[in-house]
Amino acid sequence: MRGPAPDVVATAALVRAEAVGSADWADLADRASRCTACPELAASRIHVVVGEAPPGARVLLLGEAPGAQEDDTGRPFVGKAGRLLDRLLDDVGLPRAEVAVVNVLKCRPPANRAPKRDEGTRCRGWLDRQLALADPCVVVAMGLSAVTALLGRVGTLAAARAAGVHELDGRSVLATYHPSAAIRFGPRGAPLAALREDLARARELAAF
Ligand code: SF4
Repeated sequence: MRGPAPDVVATAALVRAEAVGSADWADLADRASRCTACPELAASRIHVVVGEAPPGARVLLLGEAPGAQEDDTGRPFVGKAGRLLDRLLDDVGLPRAEVAVVNVLKCRPPANRAPKRDEGTRCRGWLDRQLALADPCVVVAMGLSAVTALLGRVGTLAAARAAGVHELDGRSVLATYHPSAAIRFGPRGAPLAALREDLARARELAAF
């Protein structure tokens, strides 16, 4: 597979430099809110959905990209999938108010199309700085694109999940299903049970 084009690499480097200069989460949010590195997304978005990180959060949940309701409100995981996620977090004793929640991509792709690889490349500097600033001990990557963004090519999501707890830069990483998959497969589907189990596992690993 060919790497990103030179202009994408150059833009990604500018994003990374801006992100690295962020003194704290609020500073990063301010800087990211003005990001126009992806012209198509910058032109169509309402908000840059930076994400949330309560001080001292030991678990960070990572999704793919904002949807319509996230773009409207500027908050991650507030739509149907977000409501399911909140319920599951409550079920396992891991309150949403105590976990960090971010997406790989900070701007909504038009019509909820899949993020393009170049967009993920440009946006990566923000994510890496968020991980450094939030400094969680456990990251739960939800959905194959979030898992791949963190761990590289892992084959299938099922295989990455079956491999157990991954390690990245001293953090534990769990690969699991996105809440939208849990909705799609329904209450008796495997993704819902797996997601609940993995959130409970994250809580254990973070030793709440
Ligand atoms: S997706 Fe990321 S890199 Fe692209 S414009 Fe939005 S914040 Fe910037």
